[in-house]
Amino acid sequence: TGKLILVPTPIGNLQDITLRAITVLKEADLILAEDTRVSVKLLKHLEIEKHMISHHKFNEHKTVPYIVSQIEMGNTIALISDAGTPAISDPGFLLVRACVEKEIEVECLPGPTALVPALAVSGLPTERFVFEGFLPQKKGRQTRLKALAEEARTMVFYESPFRLVKTLGQFAEYLGDERKACVCRELSKMFEEVKRGSVTELAEYYTDHPPKGEIVIVLEGKS
Ligand code: SAM
Repeated sequence: TGKLILVPTPIGNLQDITLRAITVLKEADLILAEDTRVSVKLLKHLEIEKHMISHHKFNEHKTVPYIVSQIEMGNTIALISDAGTPAISDPGFLLVRACVEKEIEVECLPGPTALVPALAVSGLPTERFVFEGFLPQKKGRQTRLKALAEEARTMVFYESPFRLVKTLGQFAEYLGDERKACVCRELSKMFEEVKRGSVTELAEYYTDHPPKGEIVIVLEGKS
């Protein structure tokens, strides 16, 4: 049989594609992409012409059995998302689980993802950390924030620029004004910005400078 290979793609800077990722994408029988319109640009840049099918959170329940059958027929399938590592706050988990259940080989190449550079550059302890992805927007948000108030490890969140100030304000409210954080914006891109301070200072800064682009928040754990 074939196998499933998760292929990380750049989170901004196209030079961050790995040599191995290029080889795998060239050799795969089929590429599954979260949004084919996004990925066609990357493939054009890499001069790869290959059939792509879409695999996103709205169809993954349906496409998984088809993909599994394609792999069982001997095809090697590469999964990519719009940016970063598949299955990390992106589609992939359902497919990986289905492959594991069928004893199909699954591989994930090391490569770009936003959480690791954010954590590493934050200046907060890196020895142990928790990745929280996106906070729930409404239901369950308060409960999560209350639970996180007790978390001693460094925490990593993905956040939209429109909610950044609100989220920093809630960190101050639920975890204390003095809690340190690091906001990483537009990592690897032209306007990369890293700001460190207390959650209150950062909330003030971003109130005065409404942020654009993509954001990771790294938050100090309870001491
Ligand atoms: N699979 C991706 C990964 O491995 O990081 C994450 C996909 S998730 C849908 C998108 C979120 O990742 C953004 O909202 C932002 O929080 C974060 N992100 C992605 N690219 C980023 C960048 N260049 N700078 C900062 N954060 C980024």
